[in-house]
Amino acid sequence: MSDILDNIAVVKSNIRAAAEKSGRKEEDVIIVAVGKSVGVNKILAAAYAGINDIGENTAQELSQKYFEIDIGLNWHFIGHLQRNKVKNVIEKVSLIHSLDRMPLAREINRRAEKIGKTINVLVQVNVGEEESKFGINIKEVEPFIFEMASLPFLKVKGLMTIAPYFRNPEMVRPYFSLLRNFKDDLSARNLPENVEMNYLSMGMTNDYEVAVEEGANVVRIGRAIFGL
Ligand SMILES: *Cc1c(COP(=O)(O)O)cnc(C)c1O
Repeated sequence: MSDILDNIAVVKSNIRAAAEKSGRKEEDVIIVAVGKSVGVNKILAAAYAGINDIGENTAQELSQKYFEIDIGLNWHFIGHLQRNKVKNVIEKVSLIHSLDRMPLAREINRRAEKIGKTINVLVQVNVGEEESKFGINIKEVEPFIFEMASLPFLKVKGLMTIAPYFRNPEMVRPYFSLLRNFKDDLSARNLPENVEMNYLSMGMTNDYEVAVEEGANVVRIGRAIFGL
């Protein structure tokens, strides 16, 4: 378990350096430790090392760990979300990173209204327009966001992307900077009341330093924390 402590120290110091390059501080970046297929003990170790945010990509794993690790962590849903699973995660999540279609938005809104809670979401953008990835293309984001005005129990907090994979993270930089500029342009628009552009969730083990340099303020890191 001490390796998890060491890993987190390394990740934090890398994030500090990257944040400083973009004129920000380490505390401006939220580290979501991605716990998919990671056991409860390792997640607890990460929590003791100062991690407050855990990401899961299945409703099953999130629900199970949410009950097993009852220490007030923030749970993030980061995977593809099926409509029939919304009811299982809605009361547990702090943020859903993967809103990518209207029927899902309507279902989240419907369930949220039932429990009287507003649900925070990010719109997942397929910044590389890859067939293999979920998310909506950049040019569809703006009309999508304006449709959210009719769903008052949703609160859009920003954008998320899973960038194309390159072994050399420098190759990903243009995709991150594209999304960052797009987000800044959107922020300057007159957005619906339930839409704000506070968060940019981008960067994983391979590329989080570049992502932070390019403006990410949420990174989702699995292997660099829990082991490769
Ligand atoms: C698995 C996963 C991550 C973390 O990936 P690592 O390469 O292990 O850091 C981040 N985001 C999503 C959506 C994931 O599924």
